[in-house]
Amino acid sequence: MEVTTIKVIKAHKIRLHPTAEQEEYLRRACGTRRFIFNWGLAEWQRQYQAGEQPAAFALKKQFNAIRGSEFPWTYEVTKCVVEGAFDDLGNAFRNFFAKRAKYPQFKKKGRSQESFYLANDKFTVGDHWVQVPLLGEFLVRQREAKGEPITKRTRMKRNLGKVNLAEKLRFSGKIMGATIRQEAGWWFLSVQVEVVSAQTPVDGPPVGIDAGFMRLATLSDDTRFENQKPLRHLLAQVRCLNKQLARRQKGSKNREKTKRKLARLHYRIRCLRDDLLHKVSYYVTERYGFIGLESLNVRGMFQNRKRALSASDASLGKLAYYIETKAQAHGTKVQRVGRFFPSTKRCHRCHHVREIDERERIYICFNSACGWVGDRDLNAALNILEEALRLASLTVQ
Ligand SMILES: [Zn+2]
Repeated sequence: MEVTTIKVIKAHKIRLHPTAEQEEYLRRACGTRRFIFNWGLAEWQRQYQAGEQPAAFALKKQFNAIRGSEFPWTYEVTKCVVEGAFDDLGNAFRNFFAKRAKYPQFKKKGRSQESFYLANDKFTVGDHWVQVPLLGEFLVRQREAKGEPITKRTRMKRNLGKVNLAEKLRFSGKIMGATIRQEAGWWFLSVQVEVVSAQTPVDGPPVGIDAGFMRLATLSDDTRFENQKPLRHLLAQVRCLNKQLARRQKGSKNREKTKRKLARLHYRIRCLRDDLLHKVSYYVTERYGFIGLESLNVRGMFQNRKRALSASDASLGKLAYYIETKAQAHGTKVQRVGRFFPSTKRCHRCHHVREIDERERIYICFNSACGWVGDRDLNAALNILEEALRLASLTVQ
């Protein structure tokens, strides 16, 4: 039998345990990346207003030409930071032009995601450590500046640049790159690995999936995935802490403490959500041989002003992404259904279309010859399945 192998890029996020002096380097790398991104954005805007056509690659060349004379301090950290900052800038504009994202914003200290990129040939991952480029040299210089004696042995000690990892890298394969980021006061290394594996087809029935705010996912065979209860409990805690934060004086120590607590709580919520999304996507991709999904209205997502809703919007996008990547490993077809398809308004049995309010949880068909009554999301999932099968049959021929 012929076995098809496929390449999938998987990411493993591992907690880092840097020492206090190592953390100083990580912070500086993040700050440098933020500075370079902002420099690039300002320069982009200037060139655009001058009638030129700015591009991330050209800006990087321009920056590197003046780096030594104007920003020599950027040499304290790895040059991957420069590469990554301009890649991010290019992607930010690409997403903006494709209407997937808002116009790129300047990064503010403490307000934006603190991170920097490492190119695949610039770092090594070991058993329980990662060798961060220039970190060892940085530490030697810091110690010298403090007047600490630097022996030849310290200088040689490669361990200086090794940061402790909480666990071993889970995947084996070609390492494509990594990102170091700070989240809720903790440090993480996210490694992208290209994994080659044999495709294992799933011999299962087709399924349609309706993903929503009230219930996370409903399948066309009436399997239901509710949003978790602990999540609701944590969200109540978020509201409570937000109130506390509003009472704290700006710039006070207590305010910082509350902020930190809030960040950790948000982190826990993200982890819980993510865990559930992985479970649902795993369940679906292990059982069904064909998957119908709704395309998300990404544009509308950004126009949504309610923050609580936009968080679940983001997790719906993630669910679709997880399903698609996991389906790849099985060679399962995932068919997207257009976002103007009236999946919630149409009766799956007789195709009668009616208006339906967000709050109505039961679908009642108004066509007197049909009169189907049932779960609103189940009806949508059945519609999605039918439409996905129709679209898939069109593309096959
Ligand atoms: Zn009907």
